[in-house]
Amino acid sequence: MRNKTENRARSTDARIGVRDDGERMPNLAEMRETEKRKPGILVHSCCGPCSVAVMERLSGEYDVTLFFFNPNITDGEEYEKRLRAQRTAVEKFNAWEYASGRVTLVVGPYEPERFLARARGLEAAPEGGARCARCFEMRLEKTAEYAALYSFERFTTTLSVSPHKDYSLLAKIGAGLALRYGMRFLADDFKKRAGYERSVALSKAFGLYRQTYCGCPFSRRAPGG
Ligand code: SF4
Repeated sequence: MRNKTENRARSTDARIGVRDDGERMPNLAEMRETEKRKPGILVHSCCGPCSVAVMERLSGEYDVTLFFFNPNITDGEEYEKRLRAQRTAVEKFNAWEYASGRVTLVVGPYEPERFLARARGLEAAPEGGARCARCFEMRLEKTAEYAALYSFERFTTTLSVSPHKDYSLLAKIGAGLALRYGMRFLADDFKKRAGYERSVALSKAFGLYRQTYCGCPFSRRAPGG
């Protein structure tokens, strides 16, 4: 049976797929066993609240692995708060009587300096502008890299749950990366079919922390997430 224990990459190590909790990734044979039951998908997760609606929507059809990779949250305390909320979201979802599948959580490296370098020169850009495009690319590219390394055939992101995020831009970035890494991007605007409202309702039911701004220091001036 596939190990569902949360895995965490070393925060000080920029390589992906490196663990600091003694857990190991399932080997290829174990992953293929899983695939026989349901196709696997790696889902980039921006936060616990957005992820719950996506876990609910996808876990019946796919074997879902969440990938928490958000170096855009440069404030370390805020990052830890959101990571705690993410862990709680997965624990509560996996224990939830209505869940149609269990979800694995992988935590990527925390590299705020990488985000700040990407955002240089675009600090004053409005939310939804050029800085956000670079931020999406950075998070989705790491997700695609991880997906390729661990033989996932498809990936997607919870970012489209938020009404503040440009779905067509996310879909374009995802499609480009899918081509580059030889896999599929599941293009689904998760805010549609009341996905955003569902994320609010489920995060209330699970008692999750909900952030009041998108994540980077430049987004503190406007609410988002
Ligand atoms: S506003 Fe949000 S999406 Fe845009 S750069 Fe900041 S953290 Fe990234």
